[in-house]
Amino acid sequence: MIIGIDDTDSNEGMCTTYLGALLLDELQAYGTVESLPLLVRLNPTIPYKTRGNAAVALKLKTDFPEKVIAHVLSRIEELARMECEKTNPGAVFILEKDYENLKPVLGNFLKEAVRDVIEIRKAKSLISKFGIFSKGFKNGRGLIGALAACGAMLNPEEWDHTFEHLAYRQKEKWGTSREVEKESFFEADRETYPETWDTVDITNRLVVCVPHSADPVLFGIRGENPEIVTRAAGMIRGEPVERFAVYRTNQGTDMHLLSAANIAEIQDMHSYKLEGTVSAVPKTICGGHVFFPIRDERGDEVDCATFEPTKNFREIVRKLMPGDKVILSGSVTSRTLNIEKIEIKKLAPLYIEENPKCPDCKKHMKSAGQGQGFRCRKCGTQASSKIRYEAERDLETGLYEVPPCARRHLAKPLVREKRYDIGIYPSR
Ligand code: ATP
Repeated sequence: MIIGIDDTDSNEGMCTTYLGALLLDELQAYGTVESLPLLVRLNPTIPYKTRGNAAVALKLKTDFPEKVIAHVLSRIEELARMECEKTNPGAVFILEKDYENLKPVLGNFLKEAVRDVIEIRKAKSLISKFGIFSKGFKNGRGLIGALAACGAMLNPEEWDHTFEHLAYRQKEKWGTSREVEKESFFEADRETYPETWDTVDITNRLVVCVPHSADPVLFGIRGENPEIVTRAAGMIRGEPVERFAVYRTNQGTDMHLLSAANIAEIQDMHSYKLEGTVSAVPKTICGGHVFFPIRDERGDEVDCATFEPTKNFREIVRKLMPGDKVILSGSVTSRTLNIEKIEIKKLAPLYIEENPKCPDCKKHMKSAGQGQGFRCRKCGTQASSKIRYEAERDLETGLYEVPPCARRHLAKPLVREKRYDIGIYPSR
């Protein structure tokens, strides 16, 4: 059977992936685990999320489905942060006999949950239409993520994937500061990058795979295959780990991006890949956030933003000029595209105008007075007008990304891009 779970945590603690790891170990009493557990990231703009909008799915071969269901539900009741208003757990159970029937329906539901906004009643009516066994706690919003995670498990070939090794803290340490040796993360990165990524942020000298919240995660190593993430995790020195799990995941795949044909079709709470031309000089506002508009071929405009946490990425953005042709990836909230990646396709020519130079003494001439052209002060040589030339841009075409410390879970890191037609500038 396939078990989907979502929405068990709050800002004060827990994490649905921890519950997944715990159940993965405990459910072996009732059967055999059939594949790696799934960690599915859903629409990153959903306001109900606690942190990264994750849902989890497990696959188990069992002759005791009732016992499995009872165990999963009792663990959710025991561990979910029900007291938090935003915690509305959901669990979905799919029996093997229903796999084929539900595969296309839940495959589509997964795509919608990653790219669109779904109402709870849609999840509930799908559950009743297909007679799916499920349990929603409180308002049952977690059923959306739980169904989507089951859809991912039913359609493993339908989506690009990466892996994450998640290590969990011993219970008595939850809520205390994490004891980890910073240098061991840099060592693991040196040994395993670029097959692992987002362990550290080299430019900003930060360890980025250790959370700061009260949840049970000690660290998570992301990478291209289960072996490499496990190898990197084995190099980490720190407090004892209670348990770990290697998840197959849609993190780092850009699965959230819709391709927008034009600006008129983009909507809030959706993420896009969008082509346009920079239409004004980027402006830095108080707080260090950078904004600029792009225009499409129909003349529509949208504001684009890179916020202060994107650090050095803003230096690239500040160098853009009106006329530059770009393809942007990012999420739209409040009619503003929050940039995750930028492909600079074509740079507008930069023309500089300056006073002519004296051919003899090589110095710039000075104005000879209004409407009187220019004159060299030293030798008296004259010229009628300023000279205009095309200067080199301090920017190259190619693909740029925000640094690891600002990366969205779903955003595909440039180390995973296999594009040889353009320059690729991974930001670490
Ligand atoms: P957790 O570790 O508990 O999963 P989280 O940060 O992943 O924490 P949730 O607490 O799961 O976030 O909250 C997200 C909620 O939004 C869940 O109830 C989920 O079912 C719901 N949700 C996810 N994707 C969508 C979507 N596309 N449309 C509407 N609701 C969604």
